[in-house]
Amino acid sequence: MSLDPYDYLRIRVQMDFKCHRCGICCQVADPIDIYPKDIRRLASYFELSLEETIREYTIPHPSEPDIRAFKVSAPCRFYDKTIKGCKIYPARPMVCRCSPFLSPGQIGLQGIEIYEDCPASRESLKIIERDLDPLLNPDPKMQKKLEKALSKMMQIE
Ligand code: SF4
Ligand code: SF4
Repeated sequence: MSLDPYDYLRIRVQMDFKCHRCGICCQVADPIDIYPKDIRRLASYFELSLEETIREYTIPHPSEPDIRAFKVSAPCRFYDKTIKGCKIYPARPMVCRCSPFLSPGQIGLQGIEIYEDCPASRESLKIIERDLDPLLNPDPKMQKKLEKALSKMMQIE
């Protein structure tokens, strides 16, 4: 796997990311990308067929012809305000698992996107500013660890 320094940085920051469970992203993210593996996970969770899952919960993605999107977003239909959390947490899509630093579109970017509305991202920014050099230059052992973590998080097929 060929990753650039910023990929190593974003994987490391995502691994250490501590979500505040404020629910902002669940209420504003639109579209919410749905990959084939997400559909299989949702189908299993809801005990539906793949076709039923696609019909019930997804729509064509507005800009990515190869994937789908959640049918209801901004706010996501699965966000529960009373518990400030996700009603389908074990079956949440990959983009939710990888948010905010490792969504597929970010891999390979020569830089790192910080979501200013996300309070936990602002904390990550402080860590990035403090430890920029080591984060961009992990030793070979850490590189392997980060590559393994990325493969685990980014299973999309
Ligand atoms: S906006 Fe950030 S802190 Fe809030 S729920 Fe989303 S990822 Fe967590
Ligand atoms: S599926 Fe869950 S984690 Fe993902 S946006 Fe909806 S409520 Fe948030």
